[in-house]
Amino acid sequence: MKSITLLGATGSIGLQTLDVMRQHPDEFELYAIAFGRNIEKAINIIKEFNPKKVVVQDEITKNKLNELHTNILVGNDGMVEISIDSNTDIVVNAVMGSVGLTATLEAIKAKKTIALANKETLVTAGHLVMQEVKKNNVKMIPIDSEHSAIFQSLNGENRQDMNRLIVTASGGSFRDVKRDELQSVTVEDALQHPNWNMGAKITIDSATMMNKGLEVIEAHWLFDIPYEKIDVIMHRESVIHSMVEYNDNSVIAQLGSPDMRVPIQYALTYPARLELPVSKRLNLIEIGKLHFENMDFERFPCLKMAYEAGKMGGSMTTVLNAANEIAVSLFLKGHISFLMIEDFIARALDQHEVTKDPDLDTILTVDQQTRVLVKSFIE
Ligand code: NDP
Ligand code: MG
Repeated sequence: MKSITLLGATGSIGLQTLDVMRQHPDEFELYAIAFGRNIEKAINIIKEFNPKKVVVQDEITKNKLNELHTNILVGNDGMVEISIDSNTDIVVNAVMGSVGLTATLEAIKAKKTIALANKETLVTAGHLVMQEVKKNNVKMIPIDSEHSAIFQSLNGENRQDMNRLIVTASGGSFRDVKRDELQSVTVEDALQHPNWNMGAKITIDSATMMNKGLEVIEAHWLFDIPYEKIDVIMHRESVIHSMVEYNDNSVIAQLGSPDMRVPIQYALTYPARLELPVSKRLNLIEIGKLHFENMDFERFPCLKMAYEAGKMGGSMTTVLNAANEIAVSLFLKGHISFLMIEDFIARALDQHEVTKDPDLDTILTVDQQTRVLVKSFIE
């Protein structure tokens, strides 16, 4: 029986993780959860899975839950506590945004296996996270479908034979919308993803193509490969989840129906594979054709900015991530237009003087300063 701590239990990845656990009641137990403010979903989870510890974002949320649970912790300290708890084997990090960073670092130091959905953690401080992963010799298994595909395509291979990563992109909600038509798109338009049903922030990130940029940086850290050797190609069907090209020009890919429960389960059971009855078998005959297109960096400037920030390294990707988190939340609240997201990120990057090899304090400071700066752009 593996004991799971689930950060971000009430979110899209969190609920799908619970669905995987539901399929295998003899394999997994839910030890602890953390969530933000979604009381309704949390109550259902607590009633069904009876976790020993519950972490909420703030005191107000805690007060609303006090009747239902006796062991409620609050905030970042609470997330750290359940992530290093001796009763937990695997920490699933599925919170949204760089709030996941400290808990991830502490869980690695406590030698927990990490199932990582929270890509912002690697974008904001990949060098620190991977340093701890190596030092503590822990397993960090990606949940993000592209990275799970690459991870699976590397099974049994020598890392030094890896020549190139080919990350696929579905294109997001606006893949067929021209740039000048983006002026007037609404939040509702942006939230309609053609292939995946995900949380609001990552759905907007997919529409701006920043999600793919964050994933390139995530891949750089997870697989220790230079940016020059990471390609992104548009693949509308989301059937090939990503590929690895080897020195002999062989390409190994992982395919499947778009269903996040598959990579979530693999991260929990690796290297074993369990049946997953709820997931749909891939029917290539039904699909018939797969399509691949070049990514247009002029059409998707967020992808270009992510590559540039990644290559500059240091604190630049901390700024990229924090600026993006704030700009997306301003867009979701209706305060700025869709195209202003990339404009705000570009301005924040322009104004930043990069710190090479920043420590954790520097990263947390840069993160906070960037958030304040980007909010000031609307005044
Ligand atoms: P959601 O917005 O659906 O869920 C986010 C979760 O984080 C919720 O449980 C939310 O709680 C919680 N949360 C947010 N802020 C805090 C906080 N300060 N303290 C504690 N908990 C907090 O996001 P997704 O599930 O879509 O995405 C989660 C992560 O996984 C992201 O990094 C995303 O990029 C990545 N990912 C997601 C995929 C998907 O298919 N959804 C695919 C690949 C990667 P509450 O809602 O209760 O406030
Ligand atoms: Mg992905």
